[in-house]
Amino acid sequence: MKASKMLIATLKEAPNEAQIASHVLLIRAGMIRKLVAGVYNYLPLGLRVLNKVENIIREEMDNSGALEILSSAIQPKELWEESGRWSKYGPELMRFNDRHEREFCLGPTHEEIFTDLVRTEIKSKKNLPMCIYQIQTKYRDELRPRFGLMRGREFIMKDAYSFDLDEKGLEVSYQTMHKTYENIFNRLGLNYKIVLADTGAIGGSGSHQFMALSEVGESDIIYCDCGYAADIEKAVCIDDEYKTDEEELELTLKDTPHMKTIEEVSNFLNVSLKDVFKAVVYFDMANNEPVLTIVRGDRNINEIKLVNALNIAEHELRFATDEEIVKLGSIPGFVGPKGLKVKTLIDPEVTKVKNGVIGANSKDQHMINANYGRDFEGFVVDLKCVVEGDLCPVCHKPLKQERGIEVGQIFKLGTKYSSPMNCTYQDEAGQNVPMVMGCYGIGVTRTVSSIIEQYHDEFGIKWPLNVAPYHVVVVPINYNDENMRKVADDVYEQLKANHVEVVLDDRDERPGFKFKDWELIGIPYMIVVGRGAVNGICEFKERQTMEKVELEASTIIEKVTEAVRNIK
Ligand code: ATP
Ligand code: MG
Repeated sequence: MKASKMLIATLKEAPNEAQIASHVLLIRAGMIRKLVAGVYNYLPLGLRVLNKVENIIREEMDNSGALEILSSAIQPKELWEESGRWSKYGPELMRFNDRHEREFCLGPTHEEIFTDLVRTEIKSKKNLPMCIYQIQTKYRDELRPRFGLMRGREFIMKDAYSFDLDEKGLEVSYQTMHKTYENIFNRLGLNYKIVLADTGAIGGSGSHQFMALSEVGESDIIYCDCGYAADIEKAVCIDDEYKTDEEELELTLKDTPHMKTIEEVSNFLNVSLKDVFKAVVYFDMANNEPVLTIVRGDRNINEIKLVNALNIAEHELRFATDEEIVKLGSIPGFVGPKGLKVKTLIDPEVTKVKNGVIGANSKDQHMINANYGRDFEGFVVDLKCVVEGDLCPVCHKPLKQERGIEVGQIFKLGTKYSSPMNCTYQDEAGQNVPMVMGCYGIGVTRTVSSIIEQYHDEFGIKWPLNVAPYHVVVVPINYNDENMRKVADDVYEQLKANHVEVVLDDRDERPGFKFKDWELIGIPYMIVVGRGAVNGICEFKERQTMEKVELEASTIIEKVTEAVRNIK
C-alpha cells in the first residue's frame, strides 16, 4: 500500500474526554472516530486491526469445533418475554417499536435468539452437543459509555452458546471454551488472569472472567498465590474473628449528639471501626420493600452479593430515602437493627463481634454492648466487599488485589433459558428434556483497547505483529532522490511478493514527520532508506524496542519475511 493513497488520519492531540492511553491512541493514530457517545466509526487502519483480532478468535473457535453463524441485532420482544428477561433487563436494553407498534430491542446479548434457533433446527439428540457462535454488533445503553472502545453503547462481541444433553456434557463444553479462550488471549499476547465471576443478569451456576491486567481496568481482581482468583463482586474470604470471646455486657443507650457516620461514632465512643455496626437501608423495588443491611463498620457492602441474596436485578435496588427510613420508625444517621420491623440481612462477621455499637433509631443516640441473637436478629448472609489482606478462602493466606479489564466471560447456564423456552430433545423414553446450555462472550472491540493498554509507550502504539494494521513500513528519507526511490520501490515490491503487509511512505513530507506517524500508528518494523541506499544499506527499526541497526536491504527483507512467516 502506498501511504499517499491511504487514509492516514493521525492527530497531535486527542479530545479532552480521552483519559486513558488506548482511547487517546486509537483517536490520535486515526483508528477510530466518535459518532456519538459510545458509538464509533472504524477507519481503515483500525478496521484492519479489528479484522485481525476477529480472525484469531474465529480460527480458535473453529478449531474448537464451534460453528459460526450471523444473526441480526434486531430481536423481537416475544422471545425476551419467553425467557422472562423483557421485564428484568434494565435501561441498558435499547427498545424500539416498528410502524405496527410491535416491540423490539437491539440485542445486548443473544441467549434468546440462539435458544430459539436451536429449538427449531435441532430435531435429534444425535446433533448434540453443539456449540454455535457469531462475531456481531451488540447494543447496550450504558450509563457511562467511556474510554473509547472499552465501554461502548455499540460494540463487537464474539458470543457463543453450547447445547448439551446433560450437566456432564456442559462441563466438557465449558472446559473446551475455557481452553479456547486461553489460546485466543495467549495468541493476542495479553497478560491476563482467569477469575471466578458472578453470573449477573445472564444467570446460571458457574462463571469465569478473563481479565487483561491493567491499571485502567474497571474490574478489581482478588487473588492468592495458591491459585484462588475472583472478581471482587464474587470474591469471598475467611470471616475475621474479632472480639468473638468477650463476655456479653448489658445493652446501654448512649447519647451521641450529631455523630452520624461510623468514623464519628467510633471516635466519640473511643472504639474501633470494627465495633460499630454499619446499618444501611436499601429499597428493593422488585418486592416494593425496604431492606436493612448490616456489615462491620470497617467494611463496605458488596451490592452484587446483596442483589443476589435478594434474588433481584441490580437496577431493582436503590438506597432508601430519608422519608422511607423515618416511615420505618428510625432516624437517618442513627439506624440500627433493634426493634425495627424490616427485612434484615446481616453479614456473618457482625454476628461474631461481642458488644458492638448500633444506632438506637432515635435522634442523637446509639446503643453499646449490642449482641447478635440477644439484641437483634436477621438473615445471615455474606454481604461484605473483600479487600486486600483478607484471608484466602482456600489456603487462608492474605489475599492480593489487582485491576483488570474484563475481555471475556464464560457461563454455565444450565437450563435457565432452555426450560422456559422449551429448547428440548427427546430421550430414550420419549420424554422432552431441556438441553443444558453454556454461553461464552469476548468483547472484541474491548480486546483491541486492552492490547493497546498493554502495548504502548510515549510515542504511540506498539502492536504485536499478528494484529498490527501492517507489518512493516518502508520510509525513504527523500523519495525524489533517484537511488533512494529505486531501493525503496525494490524493497517494497519484494516484501509484497513475499506476502508481507507493507506500506511505502511515498508522501512528500519531512522524514521526522513520517517517523512520528508510523511510531504513533504502531507498525512493528520500519525500514528507513537513506544515504546508504547507494550501497544497498538501509536502517531497520523495531517498534517494540525502538532499536535500530544498519543492514543490507536483502537481509532486512529476509528478517521481516521470516518474522511474518512465523506469525501464530
Ligand atoms: P461489564 O461488566 O464490563 O459491563 P458485562 O459483564 O456486562 O461487562 P458480558 O455480558 O459478560 O459483559 O459480555 C461479554 C463481553 O463483552 C465482556 O466480557 C466484555 O469484554 C464485552 N463488553 C460488555 N459490555 C461492553 C461494552 N459496553 N463495550 C465494550 N465491550 C463490552
Ligand atoms: Mg461479563
